[in-house]
Amino acid sequence: APVIGVLGLQGDVREHRAALESSGATSTVVRRPEELAQVDALVIPGGESTTIDMLTRVVGLRDPLRSRIAGGMPVYGSCAGMILLADRVLDGHPDQQTLAGLDVTVRRNAFGRQVDSHEGDLEVRGVGGGPVRAVFIRAPWVEEWGDGVEVLAAVEAKGESRPVVVRQGALLATSFHPEVTGDHRLHRLFVGMVTAA
Ligand code: GLN
Repeated sequence: APVIGVLGLQGDVREHRAALESSGATSTVVRRPEELAQVDALVIPGGESTTIDMLTRVVGLRDPLRSRIAGGMPVYGSCAGMILLADRVLDGHPDQQTLAGLDVTVRRNAFGRQVDSHEGDLEVRGVGGGPVRAVFIRAPWVEEWGDGVEVLAAVEAKGESRPVVVRQGALLATSFHPEVTGDHRLHRLFVGMVTAA
């Protein structure tokens, strides 16, 4: 089984690990560079992207993460994790940096203050078995994306179709939190990407 780390600096680490384990992977927590070196792939949970960005620098993971991602390590980023994978961020904190890799521009807190949290059912390309329950919590959306990016799901918001599940090579990102619903199909999709990589 592939060994998939969950970046354990903030967020739903336990839930992501359980979803990965039930999808056929071995999971472990990554909080230090030595731990990153032992995994085949990584999940970056939701939380606050500014905080996770700051913490990766504090623990010395920022440069190792950037080079593993640039080297083709499969990564799945949820919510704040999507922001950390993005090459460009709108409405970010002035000092905010990302790990980069995904050729997208994301907008932080894109759905606005009035709808801090919402849920919906989404068809996701490549995920069979009916719609996925998507739980959005101060979620980003993808506002621009390059030719290499596949949009697997989008929602209508502010008059346009906004991608909320994207994939580029070995990188997968969702605006929402699949780890809170008990539906492990997105984790299974990611484990399949890791196995195929
Ligand atoms: N709004 C958060 C950020 O900008 C993301 C929220 C989440 O991960 N649930 O990082």
